[in-house]
Amino acid sequence: MDGTFNENDLSRVVEADRAHVWHHLIQHKPFETNDPRIIVEGKGMRVWDQKGKEHLDAVSGGVWTVNVGYGRESICKAVYDQLMKLCYFANSAGSIPGSIFAEMLIEKMPGMSRVYYTNSGSEANEKAFKMVRQIAHKRYGGKKTKIMYRDRDYHGSTLAAMSAGGQDERNAQYGPFAPDFVRVPHCMEYRKHELDGAPEENFGEWAADQIEQVILREGPDTVGALCLEPVTAGGGVIEAPEGYWQRVQEICKKYDILLHIDEVVCGVGRTGTWFGYQQYGVKPDFVTMAKGVASGYAAIACMVTTEEVFDMFKDDASDPLNYFRDISTFGGCTAGPAAAIENMRIIQDENLLQNCTDMGNRMVGNLQALMEKHKVIGDVRGKGLFLGAELVVDRATKEPVDEKMAQAVVADCMSQGVIIGATNRSVPGKNNTLCFSPALIATADDIDQITDAVDGALGRVF
Ligand code: PLP
Repeated sequence: MDGTFNENDLSRVVEADRAHVWHHLIQHKPFETNDPRIIVEGKGMRVWDQKGKEHLDAVSGGVWTVNVGYGRESICKAVYDQLMKLCYFANSAGSIPGSIFAEMLIEKMPGMSRVYYTNSGSEANEKAFKMVRQIAHKRYGGKKTKIMYRDRDYHGSTLAAMSAGGQDERNAQYGPFAPDFVRVPHCMEYRKHELDGAPEENFGEWAADQIEQVILREGPDTVGALCLEPVTAGGGVIEAPEGYWQRVQEICKKYDILLHIDEVVCGVGRTGTWFGYQQYGVKPDFVTMAKGVASGYAAIACMVTTEEVFDMFKDDASDPLNYFRDISTFGGCTAGPAAAIENMRIIQDENLLQNCTDMGNRMVGNLQALMEKHKVIGDVRGKGLFLGAELVVDRATKEPVDEKMAQAVVADCMSQGVIIGATNRSVPGKNNTLCFSPALIATADDIDQITDAVDGALGRVF
């Protein structure tokens, strides 16, 4: 094979894929007999597979990524122009798009000040974890190295990121994990009955107080940071209840604990504001982001922090260890920030934050109407165009439906030409939450097409 490819020869692609590609997050056995799915083309909200079948993509590239939709010429042109000018130089030097995008980003994040470029959400999180540990060594005599993370949250696939992983199914068989990562309970209102002592009233404050209990158990002088998703994604699309974030902020302040918000999914518009945390009045010390930063047009992730944190890494230039001794080779690629600049302009110019809120509200309304009709929907939740519908056997017991049933709904939607997802990785075998994250350009017709497909699928599967 010489690498040349005739556009019409998609059967060769299928065979090459079947023979040589190891796909992410799936069991490959069925592909010994079934054709793998190859996505060939995308435009706007829609993609086409190798058979020419059109799909309405209700999950923005499968994992909440393509926020501005497919086929954006202005992003492609910006990337092309930048690559022709300068494709790469290690990030110890600056670049034009890297500087301009950092300025644009910081304008959207009052209180934040510095952008550290890297390749993926996992790595962005690891950068913050490393900083917390370095601060512990520098400021606290090697104490305060512990990082707290929440049950059901996910922070990435690398080993330290998995050590902060609250989804047991994903972590099973990959241990042992890194020391000094400490789990705090989840804050999911719908499943509060699973938490010992959870009250009917003021659950949000109670859930945050459980974090304080963990701090007191571990010793406040050993805990450096708390890492949370603003709205939990893969763990079941979970928005924290009323009162939670305010208490979280107070607790972090009280015990001198840095607050790290993982915006890998929520960041850059997904919830209807630039960042998810901005909906809850939180002031973070670290914010990490990846997926929507350039909507998948180039690989880019950012770890953003405050001037106060930045200062700790430069205040004593006579100490040879007193700087962040870290590198990410591809944090020097210029395609990422070039794409990110254009991506952010599109969101601004096309008023996509407002569209996200409006279409999110429409979708919630549609899903709530489906709840009246289909008793299997136990809960509808989320923010903006980041929504979930949890399927249960019985609304009274809230017993999750078997994962196979949720997958049957996903497959039925797929046969109708609508791609949705199913998630909730905390409970092995119980991925029972249908999830929806269409691009921020979705129209009312798109939203209705998605929920109509779900309606039909639920009717056939249950
Ligand atoms: N954080 C969250 C909340 C995520 O959902 C993900 C990926 O899905 C990550 C981090 C890891 O990002 P990446 O896959 O780019 O390493």
